[in-house]
Order: sequence, then C-alpha cells, then structure tokens
Amino acid sequence: MSEGATKKEEKPRKFQAIRGTRDLLPPETALWNRVEQTTHEVFASYGFGEIRPPIFEPTELFVRAVGGETDIVSKEMFILAEQHEDRDVLALSHLRDALTLMAVSADHKPSVDFFLEKSAEFCDGYQAALKKGVVYADERGGIKIEYVKEARQHLVDTIAQDRFEGWRDRFDETVRLCIQYMGLITLEQGNALRPEATASVCRAYIEHNMQQLPQPVKLYYMGPMFRRERPQKGRYRQFHQIGAEILGGPDAPAIGAELIEMLMTFFAKLELEGTTLDINSIGHAADNCRRGYVAKLKAELEKVKDKLGADSQRRIETNPLRVLDSKLEHEQAIIATLPKIADYICDDCKTHYAAVKRELDLRGVKYQENWRLVRGLDYYMRTTFEITARGLGSQNAVCGGGRYDGLVELLGGPPTKGIGFAIGEDRLILSLQEAGKGAAPQSRDVYIAWMGQNAYATAIRAAKTLRAAGFSVELPPTELKFGKALERASKLGSRFALILGDNEVTSGEWTLKNLANAEQQKLNEQALLEYLRKA
Ligand code: AMP
Repeated sequence: MSEGATKKEEKPRKFQAIRGTRDLLPPETALWNRVEQTTHEVFASYGFGEIRPPIFEPTELFVRAVGGETDIVSKEMFILAEQHEDRDVLALSHLRDALTLMAVSADHKPSVDFFLEKSAEFCDGYQAALKKGVVYADERGGIKIEYVKEARQHLVDTIAQDRFEGWRDRFDETVRLCIQYMGLITLEQGNALRPEATASVCRAYIEHNMQQLPQPVKLYYMGPMFRRERPQKGRYRQFHQIGAEILGGPDAPAIGAELIEMLMTFFAKLELEGTTLDINSIGHAADNCRRGYVAKLKAELEKVKDKLGADSQRRIETNPLRVLDSKLEHEQAIIATLPKIADYICDDCKTHYAAVKRELDLRGVKYQENWRLVRGLDYYMRTTFEITARGLGSQNAVCGGGRYDGLVELLGGPPTKGIGFAIGEDRLILSLQEAGKGAAPQSRDVYIAWMGQNAYATAIRAAKTLRAAGFSVELPPTELKFGKALERASKLGSRFALILGDNEVTSGEWTLKNLANAEQQKLNEQALLEYLRKA
C-alpha cells in the first residue's frame, strides 16, 4: 500500500473538551455577559473595584490559605508540572533521576562508587539549597535526608571494615531505601491552578501594600476556578466564581451586613428566584468560644459515633464541625440533637452576631439562622452565610461567604480584618435558565438582501452606516436571489430586510421589509436610520 493511501485511512483524532470542562456557547454566553455586566454595575455602586489576579499561584499559597487538610487542597488541586527554573533545583532533580535509573536497571551492582558519590552529592546539594532557600522548605524533607545520610554512612562503614560478608546484598537494600526517601522529598512545591480566589486577593493586598490605601479596601473578581471534583450537574472541574472581599478597616457588623445587602440586590436585579439566605456566627478560635464548642461537640459525637457514616466518623477526628455539613438522610436526626454553637460563643461574638442581624433588619434583608452553617478553618470567624437558589437539585448553594480576620496575617501581612463571598456563576446561570430567564437566540436587526454589483457597493456602505449607528446587521458575502435572501433573513431571526437592487440604487429610495408583518416601505438613507431608531 502506498504511503498516500495509508495516510488517507488514518482519521485525525477528534478532540473533546476535557471531562468537567465545557464550552460556553451562544446564545448562553449572552446570559453570562448579562450576569457579568450586572456584577460590574451593582458592585461598583457599592464602591467595589475589580481585581484580576492570575489563575495560577504558588501551591503553597493555597495550602496555607485554604488549608492542607481540606479536600480542595489535598485532593482536588490541579498542580502544574514542576518547572525547575532554578539551576540548583534542576541539578538535584537530575541527580535523583540518575540514581533512580541506576536502581531500576537490572545491572546496577557494579555502581557502588557511583551510588556513594551521587547520593552524597544529592544530600549535600539538598541541604545547601535548603539553606539558600531555593528548594521548597519541606520540614519532612530535612528528616528524610538524614535517613539517607545515615543509611549511606552505614554502608560506607560496612564496606570499609569488610566485616559483613553479604555487603553486596546490603548495598541493594540501601540503594532501594535511599531512593525511596529521596523520591519523597519535594524539591519544589510548584504552582497550582487556583481552586478559589480569596487567597490571591489577600496575597495581592499584601504585595501591593494596600493597607496604605484608605481602609477598608473593597475588591471584586470574576473568572474560572479549578477543582478536580467528580463532575455532575452544577459541579465542574473548571467553574466560574464571582467574588468580593472587604479587607482592612474595622470589623463593624454594618460592613458584613452591607456586603450581604449588595449580594441580595445583585440577585434581585438578575431576578434570581427562590433565594434563601442562611446566616450563622461561628465565634472565634478561643477556648472560651469556638474551641470550647468544638471540644463539647466532639465529646457528644463520640457518644453517637456508631450511628454515623464513615465520612462523619473520620471527621470527628479531623474536623468535627464538618459533621454538621452532612447531607446524609440518616444522620439528620442525630445532628439535630447536637449542641448548638450559638450557646457556646463568647459574649463579644454574641454581641457582634446580634448587631449583624440588626443591621440586616435595618436594610430589609430577609434571612434565616442556620446553626449548622460552619466553615472548617481556624481563621474563619463570626459571620458565615450561604445563599441557595431554586432549580439546582442537590448542588443548590449559589454563594458562600464569611469573615476571615486572620487570613492576611497568616499569609505574612499585617493583622487585617476581612470578609467576603464567592458566587458560583455556573449555578447562578443554571438557576436563571431553569426559571426561563435564559438568553434568546441572537437575532439581527437588519438583513441586507442585495442583487447586482452596483447594489453590492451600496450594501457594504449601508451595512457600515447601520452598524456604526448601533444596529446588528447581516450582509451576505455572495449574491442571493431575493427569495433565498429573505428566507435566510427569517432563519436568522432578523427584524427587517433591507432590499437593495438596481432600482433602489438609482433612485436612492431603499426598500425596507418588516419581516414580522411583511409590510414594505421605501425610505432614503437618512429616513431609514430615523425609522429604525424608533422601530
Ligand atoms: P466555595 O469556594 O467552596 O465556598 O464555593 C463557593 C460557591 O462556588 C459555591 O456555593 C458554588 O456555587 C460554587 N462552586 C464550588 N465548587 C464548584 C464546582 N466544582 N462547580 C461549580 N460551582 C462550584
């Protein structure tokens, strides 16, 4: 078979969007634009400015801000391949590769010298790089390197004293162990696609010294986030959030209440239906406040442990508050009997919570209290809130938010108050669509049906003029019979057809056909513009 024939049979691979990602297409994108335009308008009216942080950041930023123990960070983050841009790191990585290759090759036995030399180079290089701060400051990495050094030294001693006959076997064993330990050392923590943006906003606040600006600083963002979750309706691996953060200034209850008022105004403007606002206070991380509650909760959970599912049983140890999040049917009755956080928070937090509710009342914002609304991280405190909407099935939360006064400090900035929220834009759009508020297919104001080269030149000019005046115009690129052209105009949902033939060009009186009622009239260019503006 000739080469040409083989090539013909090979069908090129058809690509598909990666699982959990999707194309947003017209006309749906018009709805996305409407939501985003409304965001700009409403948020600006509350004094917020837009921030556009990058979509990838050092992995460590998210580990610290979101928490290494959370699902988002420990299981769902898209970590980018290590780049090893630093020379020392690259050299260490090559050394480790060379040793690993040697260990897996069947014929590594004669390489004692090679192993001893390269492993020493790796250990010294790693420790020097750690001191220089060019490798990831991994505490456990330091311990692992000590194991390698010890094992290596033991081998050197054994060989030198020649007191152990089977040292070649010992050699194999030592190499395997050392390589295993070295493999566990993180040279560079690298970068990750952002799973959320609060961490980035706080990083930017610190990096750009925003604490020097008038406080508080009010910022909002919108854009894609990435989490390796199991895709389902309303849950994607690339999804979109619209969020806002208020950083700096006091933690006055009015600040959080106004933030929530802005959210509800935004949803109302979009005519999002069936929204419910849940609020709660989770106190602050102190023994006489949330820590005391968590201890009590843990003790109570231990008593009912056997009746809980595996996830909740695990959470009793890792993060008892998260048990309250459970949606499992059979756990609901048990959870209902657990102690409530409101009874355990300190007096200051209670006063703050009461003031937040008063501030919401003053603004006419309706809410329901939900003592099970918690956030699992230490720096979250006091106010938490969540908004659910209709038509979303089990993934019905469209927005989550709360106060996080310790976060900026945790990221190396000055002590700074903070409160914010993130709206799931995909779910917001889904809910609008379910309520019949989706976008209509894109139509055209005017379809230009032209015939003849004379008319074509006029058609091009007419299209330019009409577009400049703000109308949406379709100009067919090749000549069509009038009948065919009008058919296309209707298919595209055009309101009018502008008919341009020799007669129209000669007389300067153009024919405008209303496609809804088939009425026709003759208008000159000026009159046409005026007519369309009023139509
Ligand atoms: P979180 O950052 O987890 O508090 O989420 C805030 C909001 O983002 C949620 O209320 C959801 O509306 C939305 N969200 C979170 N994860 C996803 C996802 N995988 N797909 C779509 N929306 C999401």
